[in-house]
Amino acid sequence: MDEITLTIDGQEVRVRKGTSLLEAARGAGIYIPALCHHPDLKPTGSCKLCIVEVEGWDTYPTSCTTPAEEGMVVRTKTEELQEMRRHAMEMILALTNHPTTCLFCERKDECTDLRECMRKLPITVGCKYCPKDGECEIQEAVEYVGLKQVRYSTAYPNLPLLREPFFDRNYNLCILCGRCVRTCEEVRGEGVISYKVDYHRQHRVEPISLASSDCKFCGACVDACPTGALYARFEKWGKPENTLTTTCPFCGVGCQMEVGVLDNQIVRVRGKRGDTPNNGQLCVKGRFGLDFATSPDRLKTPLIRKEGGLFPASWEEALNLVAEKFSQYRGDGFALLSSAKCTNEENYLAQKFGRLVMETNNIDHCARLCHASTISALSAAFGSGAMTNSIGELKEANCLFVIGSNTTEQHPVIALKPKEAKKKGAKLIVANPREIELCRIADLWLRHKPGTDVALVLGMCQVIIEENLLDEDFIRERCEEFEEFKDSLSDFSLEEASRITGVEASLIREAARLYAQHRPSSIVYAMGITQHSHGTDNILSLANLSLLTGNVGRPSTGINPLRGQNNVQGACDMGALPDFLPGYQRVQEAHLRNKFEDAWGKKLPDGPGLTVVEMFEAIHEGKIKAMYIIGENPYLSDPDSNHVTEALKKLDFLVVQDIFPSETASLAHVILPAASSLEKEGTFTNTERRIQRVRKVLEPVGESQPDWEIICQLAQKMGQKEGFSYSSPSEIMDEISKLTPIYRGISYERLDGAGLQWPCPDASHPGTPYLHKDKFTRGKGKFHVVRYRPSLELPDKEYPFLLTTGRLLFHFHTGTMTRRVGDLNYLRGEELVEINPQDAQSLGVEDGELVEVSSRRGKVRAKARVTERSPQGVIFMTFHFAETPTNVLTNPALDPVAKIPELKVCAVKLNKVGG
Ligand code: SF4
Ligand code: SF4
Ligand code: SF4
Repeated sequence: MDEITLTIDGQEVRVRKGTSLLEAARGAGIYIPALCHHPDLKPTGSCKLCIVEVEGWDTYPTSCTTPAEEGMVVRTKTEELQEMRRHAMEMILALTNHPTTCLFCERKDECTDLRECMRKLPITVGCKYCPKDGECEIQEAVEYVGLKQVRYSTAYPNLPLLREPFFDRNYNLCILCGRCVRTCEEVRGEGVISYKVDYHRQHRVEPISLASSDCKFCGACVDACPTGALYARFEKWGKPENTLTTTCPFCGVGCQMEVGVLDNQIVRVRGKRGDTPNNGQLCVKGRFGLDFATSPDRLKTPLIRKEGGLFPASWEEALNLVAEKFSQYRGDGFALLSSAKCTNEENYLAQKFGRLVMETNNIDHCARLCHASTISALSAAFGSGAMTNSIGELKEANCLFVIGSNTTEQHPVIALKPKEAKKKGAKLIVANPREIELCRIADLWLRHKPGTDVALVLGMCQVIIEENLLDEDFIRERCEEFEEFKDSLSDFSLEEASRITGVEASLIREAARLYAQHRPSSIVYAMGITQHSHGTDNILSLANLSLLTGNVGRPSTGINPLRGQNNVQGACDMGALPDFLPGYQRVQEAHLRNKFEDAWGKKLPDGPGLTVVEMFEAIHEGKIKAMYIIGENPYLSDPDSNHVTEALKKLDFLVVQDIFPSETASLAHVILPAASSLEKEGTFTNTERRIQRVRKVLEPVGESQPDWEIICQLAQKMGQKEGFSYSSPSEIMDEISKLTPIYRGISYERLDGAGLQWPCPDASHPGTPYLHKDKFTRGKGKFHVVRYRPSLELPDKEYPFLLTTGRLLFHFHTGTMTRRVGDLNYLRGEELVEINPQDAQSLGVEDGELVEVSSRRGKVRAKARVTERSPQGVIFMTFHFAETPTNVLTNPALDPVAKIPELKVCAVKLNKVGG
């Protein structure tokens, strides 16, 4: 039996076996003070405040460390317990010299004149100055136990306030409970602060900024602190008068956050606990990066280009102009870029506008640059192009194979799962040319050459077949074309894989054994795999690997592409793609297209449209004349960006709809100011296919409007009254669910809790945590014959280095949002070109010196960072910084199937500037 029954303070309580007495009591609404306890941490019982009486026991156990047992009779608030707690509390306060004015001053509530206090004590002590006043766990505990004074003399430590990026550390208020230290270690796996090193109490001697440590500024320690010792600065503005749950506007993890607002300012952000993708955790961007929404740079009115620049205009004037101009370009002379930053409802309307009003399938968005190859490959192998399993399942895997994903920087909250799995004994294989943080805890790090993933994975498949580590039953019953795949490996040896990848054959063999023998095994990948001219092949080879070993269709297995932007999954689901209507229904298939034609009342274009990179080519060829770009910044994000910029300049008419005047917007004829996702209602779909609510926590800035409202007004001005008149995003979702089988069971009423994972085929369906359970979406799992093909532009005499690109923890995408957050900029304010020390030495480049990186397409100057993280011959840069637009260098060569460009590999040369 999993449940037990006990009695607490006379109340019968049923809990799961293994629940502590403290959790059992709190679950039943019974408060027991516990200052060292936190639900995310292993209990220690060190503060002693949570002692209880258990009938028949002759000791007073600490309830946080004592498991509940069947039939126990527990008392939590006897006079004896309270007396002991008062002693314990008094000791905690005395020994840590915690100020007591906030606890015992009788005049506290009516006090308006703080001068008296301030004469005696520094202002950081006065009760009204402690940001935690009224919410402090010490105050709550002191009141509960009835402590009226501390009898021992204490000396106010008078330590300096330590100002970190985003939060302050005031160790005058620290009670040494250890929650911050343990959270950093146990929950975040960082171990940045400790009692032993300089970053904690030793600051009394020599303050050292966390900015010079490995701190990730996730804020988990701040949230765990029971006192005002660690406190987010923006939260000092006041207590929220309204708190709503919404979805993080940054990456595809889809963390749920509780956002508190006072006077239309965000004054509190917490990760939502419970059944959410993040269970209370956030990363630095979600926890501290929402300031972008109130940046003075926000677009506040429409702008129209007139002679001499862009000038403010009324909505009426701007929309009339756009409607009139767009009417002249209906058909394939028009292209639309929708946005992975916009909601599902807005993406649905954007593609509906493109197809129905503008009569073209030239619709795409940034998924083309990140996961187009995922859709093409996983659809071919399994029948569905999304993450097969759920984020939470990763921690239960016995083996995780993380390839081409710098998870700790790009999906920081998902990165907590491999760390958790490792603690439970799972094996971790990391394949990455760069030394990423996960390499430090990996059982095996395969440092293959960039662009050789297919050879690496084929080598692993070869070993699995040769050593008979395959799941023959699974292959026989659930797969097809295995023999063809097996035969194709006859002319590919492990030695060949080793030669191509640069990884020792024995390590590839070991990786294959770990993956095949520690089931369930799960594959995690990101753009290190997808952004290649052979991106589709990379993913097909991973699909082969999972099919070979039966590691798909079960919990904690599968292939898990980590989606980059907050709603890139949703934008794909909604059909912001040139070849798919919502729900991956092909535009070419008449019966699917007819369904939409019937619903929307008009014939739709029937051939696939152009993809992002093809659109810019078509502008150069004079085929596309007008463009509508919603929330994208191709000026910085697309490969060979000089070529893109030239294309944008050639357009007859360019409309950019965004929240900031992006680099792309600077070329527009009309700019339409959009509301941010904090200022509107809707839904996002995260990387694990979970549709979650986005809620309006702030009023829109200036005259900005939600994208869905702008699109509707524009369509109506263009004569399309039908189908663009909605009272709310919920009504749009109702239309989406009618036309999209995988979303059929979705409605706002059902999304209030943890959201729902598609496919959700009807209103009573609970959603699908993992795909392909008994049957693949396409029927059988299909093996594909895949051959290694080198990247299309490799280093040569003229351009001897290989450039690979990626992202950083502290910034997001093209930086339009995160570059406007002061402390994120403080933590990283410029591009640094990573170069291996041996390469640096041969070029005579020192760390911090200015270098020029050039490719066949352009050049960029930035400072060098000399680091072993980059292997010899490989240079790493990001694309966050407009001042140093890395994508002028990258190669627009496309994967022939997915049309994703080869952003991860191109040839460059590097020179010291002035050298
Ligand atoms: S902010 Fe995060 S990484 Fe930094 S000390 Fe706190 S818990 Fe550790
Ligand atoms: S800073 Fe806060 S969480 Fe850390 S030991 Fe002190 S009181 Fe506890
Ligand atoms: S991990 Fe992603 S979704 Fe979560 S807080 Fe960070 S940026 Fe937001």
